[in-house]
Amino acid sequence: MSAPSSVSHVPRVHDDPPARRRRELTRLAEEISVCRLCPRLVAWREQVARERRAAFADEEYWGRPVPGFGDPEARVCIVGLAPAAHGGNRTGRVFTGDRSGDWLYNVMWRTGFANQPTSVALSDGLELRGAYVLAAVRCAPPANRPTTEERDTCARYMRRELELLDDLRVLVALGSFAYQVIARELGVRPRPVFGHGVEATARDGRVVMCSYHPSQQNTFTGKLTEKMLYDVFARARELAGYPRVERARPTAW
Ligand code: SF4
Repeated sequence: MSAPSSVSHVPRVHDDPPARRRRELTRLAEEISVCRLCPRLVAWREQVARERRAAFADEEYWGRPVPGFGDPEARVCIVGLAPAAHGGNRTGRVFTGDRSGDWLYNVMWRTGFANQPTSVALSDGLELRGAYVLAAVRCAPPANRPTTEERDTCARYMRRELELLDDLRVLVALGSFAYQVIARELGVRPRPVFGHGVEATARDGRVVMCSYHPSQQNTFTGKLTEKMLYDVFARARELAGYPRVERARPTAW
């Protein structure tokens, strides 16, 4: 399987700053994709890739760390927990090929951040505009639970991506784990308690928005509805200074 494209395609004629940023993000993605710093996670991601789920038995799993993906000029960054064992760890792109990704990219399409509502494979044509998606931990962890040490070891990659994405104004944390990582990274103080729709401002003026994670545990139980997720992304658009996009609002109002 070839290395994933970490950024969506935006044609540029001249070697301008966004083009340089794209190159640096691509280089960073290549570096991330071969990282082996966490022995437990390396063993797990590779075991899952070897054993596979029956439904994907004919597929070659990515089985490596999953870099960020999106627009190098993004003003909005979405941060999840870690790749799903049979989602990003299978396809090589963050939130791609699992139910959480179905929810995420559908709402990003509805709110104008994505060119299509689905995300199933590296070759599916998905492009992002104004948004960049990454995970706080880049390797699929057993039971979706990275250790504190693994979280802290992997923070180096998010730090470097956030440095490169210097147009960022808003970070959307999907779940309390991502919120803790971002809030600590950006030095949010005082740090409001995590809750859906909570907003906090970092020292540098960037806004951290909280959302419940679109995990099946939350979406099946109705803890997170399409409208709740839509409202977070519409608000992120507003805070980032992007024009509102009215594209197929969720029907379940
Ligand atoms: S979790 Fe991060 S630091 Fe650990 S092996 Fe994966 S990419 Fe490397």
